[in-house]
Amino acid sequence: MRVAVLGALALLLSPAVQAVEGGGPMAVSPAVIGSAAAGCIAGAVALPPEGTGYQVLRLSRKRNFGHPDTVHVVESLARTAAAEGLGLLLVGDMSQPRGGPMPFGHGSHQSGIDVDIWFRLPEQGLAEPEREAPQPVSMVAGERVTAAWTPAQLRLLELAARAPEVDRIFVNPAIKREVCRSGGADRQWLAKLRPWWGHDEHFHVRLSCPPGSEACEAQRPVPDGDGCGFELASWFAKGPVAIPTAKPHHQTKPLPLACLQLLKHRP
Ligand SMILES: [Zn+2]
Repeated sequence: MRVAVLGALALLLSPAVQAVEGGGPMAVSPAVIGSAAAGCIAGAVALPPEGTGYQVLRLSRKRNFGHPDTVHVVESLARTAAAEGLGLLLVGDMSQPRGGPMPFGHGSHQSGIDVDIWFRLPEQGLAEPEREAPQPVSMVAGERVTAAWTPAQLRLLELAARAPEVDRIFVNPAIKREVCRSGGADRQWLAKLRPWWGHDEHFHVRLSCPPGSEACEAQRPVPDGDGCGFELASWFAKGPVAIPTAKPHHQTKPLPLACLQLLKHRP
Protein backbone atom coordinates (compact mmCIF):
# COMPACT_ATOMS: atom_id res chain seq x y z
CA MET A 1 0.00 0.00 0.00
CA ARG A 2 2.72 2.46 1.01
CA VAL A 3 4.74 1.58 -2.05
CA ALA A 4 1.65 2.04 -4.20
CA VAL A 5 0.99 5.52 -2.83
CA LEU A 6 4.60 6.55 -3.34
CA GLY A 7 4.39 5.17 -6.84
CA ALA A 8 1.32 7.26 -7.52
CA LEU A 9 3.07 10.31 -6.10
CA ALA A 10 6.09 9.76 -8.33
CA LEU A 11 3.72 9.52 -11.27
CA LEU A 12 2.09 12.79 -10.32
CA LEU A 13 5.41 14.58 -10.02
CA SER A 14 6.72 13.43 -13.40
CA PRO A 15 7.44 16.24 -15.91
CA ALA A 16 4.62 15.12 -18.17
CA VAL A 17 2.12 15.66 -15.37
CA GLN A 18 3.60 18.95 -14.23
CA ALA A 19 2.98 20.28 -17.72
CA VAL A 20 -0.79 19.89 -17.24
CA GLU A 21 -2.33 23.26 -16.55
CA GLY A 22 -5.36 24.34 -14.56
CA GLY A 23 -7.78 22.12 -12.75
CA GLY A 24 -8.88 19.78 -15.49
CA PRO A 25 -8.56 16.05 -15.38
CA MET A 26 -4.98 14.74 -15.48
CA ALA A 27 -3.70 13.51 -18.83
CA VAL A 28 -2.30 10.31 -17.36
CA SER A 29 -3.52 6.77 -17.20
CA PRO A 30 -6.50 6.59 -14.86
CA ALA A 31 -5.73 5.88 -11.20
CA VAL A 32 -8.11 5.95 -8.27
CA ILE A 33 -6.26 7.05 -5.12
CA GLY A 34 -7.57 6.55 -1.58
CA SER A 35 -11.24 5.95 -0.86
CA ALA A 36 -14.54 7.45 -1.96
CA ALA A 37 -14.66 9.35 1.35
CA ALA A 38 -11.03 10.56 1.25
CA GLY A 39 -9.49 10.33 -2.16
CA CYS A 40 -8.97 11.68 -5.64
CA ILE A 41 -8.47 10.48 -9.18
CA ALA A 42 -5.79 10.97 -11.80
CA GLY A 43 -6.74 10.53 -15.43
CA ALA A 44 -10.49 10.99 -14.95
CA VAL A 45 -12.66 11.27 -18.04
CA ALA A 46 -15.88 13.24 -18.51
CA LEU A 47 -19.22 11.59 -19.05
CA PRO A 48 -20.56 13.51 -22.09
CA PRO A 49 -23.50 15.78 -21.11
CA GLU A 50 -25.93 13.53 -22.95
CA GLY A 51 -25.89 10.25 -24.81
CA THR A 52 -28.08 7.30 -25.67
CA GLY A 53 -30.57 6.91 -22.86
CA TYR A 54 -29.24 9.50 -20.42
CA GLN A 55 -28.80 13.17 -19.61
CA VAL A 56 -26.40 14.69 -17.07
CA LEU A 57 -28.03 17.13 -14.65
CA ARG A 58 -26.55 20.40 -13.29
CA LEU A 59 -23.61 20.58 -15.67
CA SER A 60 -22.47 23.85 -14.11
CA ARG A 61 -21.24 21.88 -11.10
CA LYS A 62 -18.62 20.10 -13.24
CA ARG A 63 -19.15 16.86 -11.38
CA ASN A 64 -19.55 14.63 -14.42
CA PHE A 65 -16.04 13.15 -14.15
CA GLY A 66 -14.91 9.73 -13.11
CA HIS A 67 -12.81 6.69 -13.81
CA PRO A 68 -13.39 5.38 -17.36
CA ASP A 69 -15.07 2.32 -15.81
CA THR A 70 -17.63 4.60 -14.13
CA VAL A 71 -18.39 6.31 -17.42
CA HIS A 72 -18.68 2.90 -19.07
CA VAL A 73 -21.12 1.64 -16.41
CA VAL A 74 -23.39 4.68 -16.82
CA GLU A 75 -23.34 4.59 -20.61
CA SER A 76 -24.02 0.89 -20.78
CA LEU A 77 -26.78 1.05 -18.15
CA ALA A 78 -28.40 3.92 -20.07
CA ARG A 79 -28.23 2.03 -23.36
CA THR A 80 -29.86 -1.04 -21.85
CA ALA A 81 -32.51 1.06 -20.09
CA ALA A 82 -33.31 2.74 -23.42
CA ALA A 83 -33.45 -0.60 -25.24
CA GLU A 84 -35.86 -1.93 -22.61
CA GLY A 85 -37.99 1.22 -22.67
CA LEU A 86 -37.45 2.01 -18.98
CA GLY A 87 -37.14 5.76 -19.55
CA LEU A 88 -34.31 8.25 -19.65
CA LEU A 89 -31.62 8.12 -16.97
CA LEU A 90 -31.02 11.41 -15.18
CA VAL A 91 -27.42 11.34 -14.01
CA GLY A 92 -26.57 13.38 -10.92
CA ASP A 93 -23.19 13.92 -9.37
CA MET A 94 -20.16 11.82 -10.19
CA SER A 95 -16.83 13.40 -9.15
CA GLN A 96 -14.92 16.60 -9.85
CA PRO A 97 -12.28 16.55 -12.63
CA ARG A 98 -9.60 15.39 -10.18
CA GLY A 99 -11.97 14.16 -7.51
CA GLY A 100 -11.30 15.28 -3.95
CA PRO A 101 -13.69 16.71 -1.35
CA MET A 102 -16.62 18.70 -2.69
CA PRO A 103 -17.53 22.11 -1.26
CA PHE A 104 -21.13 20.92 -0.74
CA GLY A 105 -23.43 18.00 -1.22
CA HIS A 106 -21.44 14.85 -0.44
CA GLY A 107 -18.92 13.28 1.88
CA SER A 108 -18.03 10.67 -0.72
CA HIS A 109 -17.84 10.93 -4.53
CA GLN A 110 -14.14 11.82 -4.09
CA SER A 111 -12.33 9.15 -6.08
CA GLY A 112 -14.16 8.85 -9.39
CA ILE A 113 -16.01 5.61 -8.66
CA ASP A 114 -19.36 7.02 -7.40
CA VAL A 115 -22.37 8.13 -9.41
CA ASP A 116 -25.87 9.21 -8.41
CA ILE A 117 -28.67 8.15 -10.75
CA TRP A 118 -32.21 9.40 -10.26
CA PHE A 119 -35.15 7.06 -9.83
CA ARG A 120 -37.27 9.51 -11.82
CA LEU A 121 -37.29 8.16 -15.39
CA PRO A 122 -38.74 10.77 -17.76
CA GLU A 123 -39.56 9.96 -21.37
CA GLN A 124 -37.36 12.76 -22.63
CA GLY A 125 -34.58 14.98 -21.38
CA LEU A 126 -35.22 17.99 -19.17
CA ALA A 127 -35.07 21.38 -20.82
CA GLU A 128 -33.24 24.35 -19.33
CA PRO A 129 -33.71 25.77 -16.77
CA GLU A 130 -35.11 22.61 -15.13
CA ARG A 131 -31.99 20.66 -16.05
CA GLU A 132 -29.98 22.99 -13.85
CA ALA A 133 -32.53 22.94 -10.99
CA PRO A 134 -34.33 19.63 -11.43
CA GLN A 135 -37.17 18.45 -9.22
CA PRO A 136 -36.46 15.14 -7.54
CA VAL A 137 -39.31 12.67 -7.03
CA SER A 138 -39.18 10.66 -3.83
CA MET A 139 -40.08 6.98 -4.08
CA VAL A 140 -40.67 6.71 -0.32
CA ALA A 141 -43.27 7.92 2.17
CA GLY A 142 -42.57 6.94 5.76
CA GLU A 143 -41.47 3.31 5.65
CA ARG A 144 -43.03 2.41 2.30
CA VAL A 145 -42.52 3.04 -1.38
CA THR A 146 -45.05 5.29 -3.08
CA ALA A 147 -47.01 4.86 -6.32
CA ALA A 148 -44.03 6.49 -8.07
CA TRP A 149 -42.17 3.19 -7.61
CA THR A 150 -42.79 0.97 -10.66
CA PRO A 151 -41.26 -2.16 -12.24
CA ALA A 152 -39.00 0.19 -14.26
CA GLN A 153 -37.15 1.34 -11.12
CA LEU A 154 -36.84 -2.26 -9.93
CA ARG A 155 -35.42 -3.38 -13.26
CA LEU A 156 -33.00 -0.44 -13.37
CA LEU A 157 -31.60 -1.36 -9.95
CA GLU A 158 -31.21 -4.97 -11.04
CA LEU A 159 -29.35 -3.98 -14.20
CA ALA A 160 -27.04 -1.71 -12.21
CA ALA A 161 -26.39 -4.30 -9.51
CA ARG A 162 -25.58 -6.98 -12.07
CA ALA A 163 -22.82 -4.88 -13.66
CA PRO A 164 -19.59 -6.65 -12.70
CA GLU A 165 -17.77 -3.37 -12.03
CA VAL A 166 -20.36 -2.32 -9.41
CA ASP A 167 -19.40 -3.03 -5.81
CA ARG A 168 -22.51 -1.72 -4.03
CA ILE A 169 -25.55 0.53 -4.45
CA PHE A 170 -27.00 2.68 -1.67
CA VAL A 171 -30.79 2.85 -1.48
CA ASN A 172 -33.33 3.88 1.12
CA PRO A 173 -34.24 0.99 3.46
CA ALA A 174 -37.87 1.17 2.30
CA ILE A 175 -36.66 0.60 -1.25
CA LYS A 176 -34.44 -2.28 -0.24
CA ARG A 177 -37.39 -3.86 1.56
CA GLU A 178 -39.59 -3.48 -1.49
CA VAL A 179 -36.91 -5.04 -3.71
CA CYS A 180 -36.55 -7.90 -1.22
CA ARG A 181 -40.30 -8.49 -1.56
CA SER A 182 -40.47 -8.36 -5.36
CA GLY A 183 -36.92 -9.12 -6.48
CA GLY A 184 -37.57 -12.64 -7.77
CA ALA A 185 -35.96 -16.01 -7.21
CA ASP A 186 -32.39 -15.17 -8.19
CA ARG A 187 -31.34 -13.22 -5.11
CA GLN A 188 -27.64 -12.81 -5.68
CA TRP A 189 -27.75 -9.24 -6.98
CA LEU A 190 -29.73 -8.09 -3.94
CA ALA A 191 -26.60 -8.29 -1.78
CA LYS A 192 -25.19 -5.22 -3.53
CA LEU A 193 -28.16 -3.07 -2.47
CA ARG A 194 -27.15 -1.45 0.80
CA PRO A 195 -29.76 0.32 2.93
CA TRP A 196 -28.78 3.87 3.80
CA TRP A 197 -30.35 7.13 4.88
CA GLY A 198 -31.85 9.31 2.18
CA HIS A 199 -31.44 7.78 -1.29
CA ASP A 200 -35.18 7.87 -1.82
CA GLU A 201 -35.06 9.88 -5.04
CA HIS A 202 -31.77 8.63 -6.40
CA PHE A 203 -29.58 5.60 -5.96
CA HIS A 204 -25.85 5.83 -5.46
CA VAL A 205 -23.69 3.41 -7.41
CA ARG A 206 -20.17 2.71 -6.20
CA LEU A 207 -17.67 0.72 -8.22
CA SER A 208 -15.03 -1.62 -6.87
CA CYS A 209 -11.43 -0.48 -7.10
CA PRO A 210 -10.72 -0.61 -10.84
CA PRO A 211 -7.91 -2.87 -12.05
CA GLY A 212 -4.62 -0.97 -12.20
CA SER A 213 -5.49 1.44 -9.35
CA GLU A 214 -3.02 0.13 -6.77
CA ALA A 215 -3.51 3.12 -4.44
CA CYS A 216 -7.30 2.62 -4.31
CA GLU A 217 -8.55 1.56 -0.87
CA ALA A 218 -11.11 -1.20 -1.22
CA GLN A 219 -14.20 -1.21 0.99
CA ARG A 220 -15.08 -4.14 3.16
CA PRO A 221 -17.00 -6.65 1.01
CA VAL A 222 -20.77 -6.53 1.25
CA PRO A 223 -22.09 -9.18 3.67
CA ASP A 224 -23.07 -12.59 2.31
CA GLY A 225 -26.71 -13.30 1.58
CA ASP A 226 -29.38 -11.07 0.09
CA GLY A 227 -29.39 -8.61 3.03
CA CYS A 228 -33.16 -8.95 3.44
CA GLY A 229 -33.12 -10.33 6.96
CA PHE A 230 -32.02 -9.02 10.31
CA GLU A 231 -29.84 -6.17 9.05
CA LEU A 232 -32.66 -4.66 7.04
CA ALA A 233 -35.17 -5.16 9.86
CA SER A 234 -32.87 -3.24 12.19
CA TRP A 235 -33.47 -0.08 10.15
CA PHE A 236 -37.19 -0.25 10.78
CA ALA A 237 -36.75 -1.04 14.45
CA LYS A 238 -35.35 2.48 14.82
CA GLY A 239 -38.71 3.96 13.87
CA PRO A 240 -39.69 5.66 10.63
CA VAL A 241 -36.77 5.71 8.25
CA ALA A 242 -35.38 9.20 8.27
CA ILE A 243 -34.80 10.96 4.98
CA PRO A 244 -32.57 13.83 6.07
CA THR A 245 -31.89 16.80 3.88
CA ALA A 246 -28.33 17.38 2.74
CA LYS A 247 -26.15 18.79 5.46
CA PRO A 248 -22.72 20.38 5.17
CA HIS A 249 -19.90 17.90 5.08
CA HIS A 250 -16.59 18.37 6.82
CA GLN A 251 -13.64 16.36 5.67
CA THR A 252 -12.67 14.23 8.63
CA LYS A 253 -10.47 11.55 7.09
CA PRO A 254 -7.09 12.87 5.93
CA LEU A 255 -6.47 12.79 2.21
CA PRO A 256 -3.63 10.64 0.87
CA LEU A 257 -0.45 12.60 0.20
CA ALA A 258 -0.73 11.89 -3.51
CA CYS A 259 -4.16 13.59 -3.48
CA LEU A 260 -2.84 16.71 -1.75
CA GLN A 261 -0.34 17.03 -4.60
CA LEU A 262 -2.92 16.32 -7.27
CA LEU A 263 -5.47 18.79 -5.92
CA LYS A 264 -3.00 21.57 -5.11
CA HIS A 265 -3.13 23.27 -8.46
CA ARG A 266 -6.79 23.09 -9.26
CA PRO A 267 -8.65 26.41 -9.42
ZN1 LIG B 1 -24.27 9.82 -4.03
